[in-house]
Amino acid sequence: MRLVKIAVVLFFLAGSVFSSEFAAQLKNYPSYWIGKQKYVSLQTIIKVLGIQSWGRIEDRIFLEYQGKILKGSIGSSDFYVDDKKVGLDFPIKEIEKEIFLPVEPFDRIISTITPVSPPQVPKQTLAVEQASKPAVQESNLDREFIILIDPGHGGKDNGAIGNYGLKEKDVNLDISLRLKNYLVSQFKKIPNIRVKMTREDDTFLSLDERVELAKKEKADIFFCVHTNSSKFNRWNADGFETYYPSRKSEISFVSKVETDESIEPDTNLETVFQIVSDLNTTSVIEESRILAEIVQEKLAERLICPDRGAKAASFYVLRYTPMTSVLVEVGFICNPNIEANLRDPEVRQAISETLGKAIIQYLKSRQIIG
Ligand SMILES: [Zn+2]
Repeated sequence: MRLVKIAVVLFFLAGSVFSSEFAAQLKNYPSYWIGKQKYVSLQTIIKVLGIQSWGRIEDRIFLEYQGKILKGSIGSSDFYVDDKKVGLDFPIKEIEKEIFLPVEPFDRIISTITPVSPPQVPKQTLAVEQASKPAVQESNLDREFIILIDPGHGGKDNGAIGNYGLKEKDVNLDISLRLKNYLVSQFKKIPNIRVKMTREDDTFLSLDERVELAKKEKADIFFCVHTNSSKFNRWNADGFETYYPSRKSEISFVSKVETDESIEPDTNLETVFQIVSDLNTTSVIEESRILAEIVQEKLAERLICPDRGAKAASFYVLRYTPMTSVLVEVGFICNPNIEANLRDPEVRQAISETLGKAIIQYLKSRQIIG
């Protein structure tokens, strides 16, 4: 099958006629004639230019080179350097799941970009893969269901700060706003599901104020968005992780109290409440764990960086909120490559949609929505 397709696109090894540094290095790699144009694979470009930060979302590809963001779309000759349209003359192609760019115009674009020395840092890849569009149609809800998104930090509290100045509070807020928009668009047909936020701008909120908001809103899910940082491994720490509560200090509601035959008739009322409360605390923790596992599973499908797992922790906002609650750390802002990725609106959008899909999958698995 592969051989047939290769024959169709006239798969020839071609010698380079270009003189730039990039073109000179290309001589060591295969290039291909597609129609009358010479193409080179995206993988070769990444290798030759030493690009470590790149990604793909549906038909769009983006690369970070010398501090500039290069963007294009498969099937299109439109090409952008830092949002400035430069044009590739010939469309980007995808053949056998491999992406190819026309050599000559790409070489021309690359040669206009002056190399900058910093940051030459060990980079890792946070790439984004193809997305599908879930459509949420129905629900089994006969009441309001509140999802409260909590962007970590804000105002005077920056959270972690990357080596090149990106602030955690801003990343958390932007991803959270995009997550809210995504969920609202998905739940258009289910007005019973309300998506709210603890903060929608750069406001400082104490942990206690966040907990109080969750209680006041009677949230069903409290979803905290954070960006990670490591003290000892600032340049290389990588991966995403999601926390669920190891314990809950209280629960504010008892969803359904059924007659429990195991409770002796002479058990005093306080003990009954204690048992009911324990059962619910356990179930709220268990629900949180399930949601955290789904968040990890979905992020692992979409992000090419280490899955650090779903973990139990006694963080204040998890412990003192009486409902299902998780705290996701979407990536390490202290790692310069991840910091560069987290600056990119497309990466933020991809992360937000992935978190949204995780919440939807959780709601489906609990039969809250169909
Ligand atoms: Zn944080």
